Amino acid sequence: MSEPVLYIVATPIGNLADLSERAREVLGSVDHVAAEDTRHSGRLLAHFNIKVPMISVHDHNERQRAEHVINLLRNGESIALVSDAGTPLISDPGFHLVRAVREAGFRVSPVPGSCAFVAALSASGLPSDRFQFIGFLPAKSGARLQALEALSENTETLVFYESTHRIVDSLKAMSEAFGGDRYAVVARELTKTFETIHGDNLEGLLEWIQEDANQQRGEFVVLVQGAEKVLDDESINPEAERILRILAKEMPPKKAAGVAAEITGYKKNRLYQLLID
Ligand code: SAM
Repeated sequence: MSEPVLYIVATPIGNLADLSERAREVLGSVDHVAAEDTRHSGRLLAHFNIKVPMISVHDHNERQRAEHVINLLRNGESIALVSDAGTPLISDPGFHLVRAVREAGFRVSPVPGSCAFVAALSASGLPSDRFQFIGFLPAKSGARLQALEALSENTETLVFYESTHRIVDSLKAMSEAFGGDRYAVVARELTKTFETIHGDNLEGLLEWIQEDANQQRGEFVVLVQGAEKVLDDESINPEAERILRILAKEMPPKKAAGVAAEITGYKKNRLYQLLID
């Protein structure tokens, strides 16, 4: 008998063709599919002609259900965890289950695939080397603004999930916390018919979305450019100086300082001064 496994299976975020070959195989071969909403995931399984008994595992029963899942694993049965869309545990249930199953000594294996924020980040044109995934903001306006204000100095790209009901209010709060001139991208209905990826400063985004009610429909990822780095003007690090010197060999000092400023985040005047000195 093969080793029992809890598989964490990503499902599409809109386009059903994004369900991977391996996800189909795993879903078709396990003894049970644990789903956030069994009716919703049942439709996905039916679409792929997969017939497997389902267990419901959602935010409110996850801790108790972990016991049940562990008992199934003890019986040698394998289970696949899915959420309504995308990757389980990413703003979705599953964390308590995975932790309990791992603590009980069973294998947990991911079957990766769609994830809304990864898809949005990959197509946003915003820096993706360092980012912070925030997920959903608090629903209450005071707590939401406070959460955003706490992020306003972060220099990495900030990534949020938002629903149709709160997208306008959230963009307003972002504009208040980060300033209307901060660049951001709204990624809506990814992989679906009305997929839209639109970038502007927060003030412009708000105007654009308020002018067209259609743009307020569906599911959203909002990505906000990080705050500009505030660098110590006095000391310039050796890497920045090296870049400046290479550029200065190829172009006039003012131009070299400008380009180096864009690359390194130091002020152009400070770099120019260094060259002249
Ligand atoms: N587990 C999912 C994932 O891997 O992305 C996220 C689940 S979370 C409950 C649902 C939120 O994800 C939506 O409110 C929206 O912010 C985002 N989302 C899901 N599908 C999306 C899509 N097709 N386009 C844009 N955002 C999406």
